[in-house]
Amino acid sequence: MTEPERILLIEDDKRIREFVSSALEAEGYRVFEAGSAAWGATEAAKHKPHLVMLDLGLPDRDGTEFIRDFRGWSSVPILIISARTEEKGKVEALDAGADDYLTKPFGVPELLARVRALLRRAPAQRLDSNPIIRFGDFTIDCVSRTVSRNGEPIKLSQIEYRLLLAMAGNPGRVLTHRQLLIQVWGGQAAGNHEYLRVYVGHLRQKIEMNPAQPRHIQTEIGIGYRFNPDFNL
Ligand code: CA
Repeated sequence: MTEPERILLIEDDKRIREFVSSALEAEGYRVFEAGSAAWGATEAAKHKPHLVMLDLGLPDRDGTEFIRDFRGWSSVPILIISARTEEKGKVEALDAGADDYLTKPFGVPELLARVRALLRRAPAQRLDSNPIIRFGDFTIDCVSRTVSRNGEPIKLSQIEYRLLLAMAGNPGRVLTHRQLLIQVWGGQAAGNHEYLRVYVGHLRQKIEMNPAQPRHIQTEIGIGYRFNPDFNL
């Protein structure tokens, strides 16, 4: 017998959670539930779901913020379920890395069809998400959202953390200014190169041995940045 596909449902409304869970379980999926963003991150690391269903209005953090962080360490498909109907919220969530969007209230047949479509598209190698990223003497724990150097915690602001995660999660790859701005600040910031320059400066102060000659965060002039995880290169 093949193992059932695992779905993580992050939603603070218990009634909706029960309704969606039972619809999914009736189709043979294994469902894990979480009522907040922090709880969701823990469950994602623990159960390595094949799909995440996410409500945007959560008690501890906005769902869009959750997506930006989650995309730093996982490419598992995300289906948004939200009562927000305005276009802006949907566009932001999709730009942050969500794959599809379902507006509440929705019917079970449509919900199941979207789940099937996303699971079909997700290649198997994407399932192996690792919430711990290491580079040089540093460790990023994507579940507790903390960074340490040789076990000593490093204090980063929300934006610095997200920027570091965006880069360290894609080692060796050139990330354009636009990609980083959208991933860290959202689509409305796509043209604001100055934000990025300032925050890359802050981050270099905190993680580089010599911020004037950065080894980890390398500038690709006129294009963006490339993250080098190795100290010795
Ligand atoms: Ca909610």
